[in-house]
Amino acid sequence: MGKALIIGAGGVASVAIHKCCQNPDIFEEICIASRTVEKCDAIKKKLVGSRTKIQTAQLDADNTEMVIDLIKSFKPDIVINLALPYQDLTIMDACLATGVDYLDTANYEPLDIAKFEYKWQWAYREKFAQAGLTALLGSGFDPGVTGVFCAYAQKHYFDEIHSIDIVDANAGDHGYPFATNFNPEINIREITANGRYFENGSWVETAPLSLKKVYDLPEIGPKSIYLMYHEELESLAIHIKGIKKIRFWMTFSDNYLNHLKVLENVGMTSIEPIEFEGQQIVPLHFLKAVLPDPASLGPRTKGKTNIGCIMQGLKDGKPKTYYVYNICDHQECYAEVGSQAISYTTGVPAMIGAMLILKGIWKKPGVFNVEEFDPDPFMEALNQYGLPWQESFSPTLLD
Ligand code: NDP
Repeated sequence: MGKALIIGAGGVASVAIHKCCQNPDIFEEICIASRTVEKCDAIKKKLVGSRTKIQTAQLDADNTEMVIDLIKSFKPDIVINLALPYQDLTIMDACLATGVDYLDTANYEPLDIAKFEYKWQWAYREKFAQAGLTALLGSGFDPGVTGVFCAYAQKHYFDEIHSIDIVDANAGDHGYPFATNFNPEINIREITANGRYFENGSWVETAPLSLKKVYDLPEIGPKSIYLMYHEELESLAIHIKGIKKIRFWMTFSDNYLNHLKVLENVGMTSIEPIEFEGQQIVPLHFLKAVLPDPASLGPRTKGKTNIGCIMQGLKDGKPKTYYVYNICDHQECYAEVGSQAISYTTGVPAMIGAMLILKGIWKKPGVFNVEEFDPDPFMEALNQYGLPWQESFSPTLLD
């Protein structure tokens, strides 16, 4: 059916590429392009024998001209951006210049300040609409599947959704004293930022990780969950009809939080450059270099993730509750594609979003978040491609 240019060769890209190759009628040809071409070649080597034709390329995606040149020579039908949030705009510019659809899993971030805002990418709406191109933002798990879950609930079960609590739980254990499950820089920027939630039309700020609850999660059991800001809150607060309150919660172990506190206290999580031996270095970049590579956690991680949305609202004038979630087993993911569940739960929805665009099912001109499309084909594909979901109509609610 089509050709995909996949940018990035990290944990998420590796899963998405494996999944594209499990779906060779849709992804007939892919080009894996990243800063370090050896990583692209290593992924290609693992997929020898796949019916999907694979080529690799060295690419600095911060350089729009280089992305344009690669698109012109490979001629993809879609660009799947699985590099870092810093490259979103240069890659979107290149897609506009060459007339190709775009997909990513994380909102654009300027290098110097962590914002978690869609405003820079939403500013491209007009340009993509006029060019007749689709840009699908945030097609990972959260953001991504969580938005699809909300759209599905809105379509099938509610007239109005009044509250949504997104709960992201990872009960996996990798055996290291401290490591992050995906890109450490992005992960730590996210966790050390202020918490924020939406209530009655405005945003409420909280100190980082200052709101804590214990929630008993299916198949995982009771876990401490902490309120955080997460980028899908911004788009869901706009796109879910009648929403009054939306919050995001994530599990952290005491051990993880203790390590993080120390790193923060000594200045290692800062993104402010400092002078070191005559060079400018960003402490968080240095920390990333000394922490275990998330890709190396795969063979060591045991346990499960559970990510889902707990909702309350009205149907036919009566109160209604609904919980939809996915449970993913780290070791099963590793056995299937050689990565742990965090990369798996992001890489699979990236492939699904790209598949729906290539098939023309989720193709319309403009820049969109996942909840703006019909959720049904995505929900069906989640069951088919390794992220089956479960639902409950009497969940315990978070007060
Ligand atoms: P990794 O750090 O493992 O991989 C990032 C890849 O991008 C690396 O291969 C890196 O190259 C490459 N890269 C970085 N800068 C450039 C550049 N300028 N040009 C070309 N390639 C570049 O990250 P992950 O795979 O864990 O995460 C990928 C994306 O997925 C991130 O944006 C992350 O925020 C997002 N994500 C989204 C989630 C969701 O649920 N929505 C959950 C988890 C992650 P090199 O190897 O040379 O460093």
